[in-house]
Amino acid sequence: MKNTTKPPLKVLLAAPRGFCAGVERAVQAVEEALNQFGAPVFVRHEIVHNRKVVEELSARGAIFVEELNQINDSSRPVITSAHGIPQAVKDEAQKRKLLHLDATCPLVEKVHARVRHATAQGYIVLLIGHPNHPEIIGTLGQAPKNSVLLVSTQQDAKTITPPTNTKLAWASQTTLSVSDTAEIVKILQQRFPTIVSPKKDDICYATSNRQTAVAELAPHCDLFLVLGSQNSSNSRRLVEVALASGSPKAQLIDGPNNLTLPLPTSVQCLGLTAGASAPESLITETLSQLATHHTLEVQEQNHEKETIRFKPPKPATTSANTPKNKPTEQ
Ligand code: SF4
Repeated sequence: MKNTTKPPLKVLLAAPRGFCAGVERAVQAVEEALNQFGAPVFVRHEIVHNRKVVEELSARGAIFVEELNQINDSSRPVITSAHGIPQAVKDEAQKRKLLHLDATCPLVEKVHARVRHATAQGYIVLLIGHPNHPEIIGTLGQAPKNSVLLVSTQQDAKTITPPTNTKLAWASQTTLSVSDTAEIVKILQQRFPTIVSPKKDDICYATSNRQTAVAELAPHCDLFLVLGSQNSSNSRRLVEVALASGSPKAQLIDGPNNLTLPLPTSVQCLGLTAGASAPESLITETLSQLATHHTLEVQEQNHEKETIRFKPPKPATTSANTPKNKPTEQ
């Protein structure tokens, strides 16, 4: 007779995980715009870096573009992403009289405001972050060229040569590794003892909570799976944290379809989390998929309860030809 007993698998579910307040607000801004104005609405860049979210919003009528000049109907609303945008994009939306909903996360906006303030006071800001990431492009675009200099690695921190006799400050991307950033800051502070630091570093609560939750579980796991898209900075950092904290293997996967089941017998204990742009439905679907091949024992370990919520964005620009109502269905 065929043995139908499924091999046991302990799953340690990290918490908090998945959507943060900034992502929730940005996704809701697109959903609200679709409800209020009907389809299509334009979204500049992926509203958050998650394939499932983008596919679901596209199916409802969101059109994703990379630049505003790709918008061929200026009577439709445009929502810009949680990662933030350069000032030039805001100016362009205003010039074209687009109905612009700016879904920049308030915590990214806080960094923008500090960079604008510091550079206006004559500081050069050393910005720690990943080149070409949309958040970094947005933050660089808050101030005149050459007043914000990018520092991506410890090597950059050791070699960067800002103009002499200038006041220096530092800022960072919100989704970096807490420990890697601390190392870079240490080097900058050794080289430039008068550099001005933010009151608290710029890595947001959601990034650091998700990293701590993973770090606490990783030593007990044989494999750590992070649900999130490849272009999600905070999700990639969770993989690095899992590996650095003691999990022998860690992997970033888009969803349950990327699983090869059953898991190898060497995996007795699986760590599971989701990046800040990955919806909870991905966790539920992954657990269901795992349960088809394993007898699961799921334990959730809550590092910290998150209660932060942000108010929805208000239109930054009101177009003269703004659609007032949902179009009548044909
Ligand atoms: S990860 Fe942090 S900064 Fe980015 S949207 Fe979420 S709360 Fe805002």
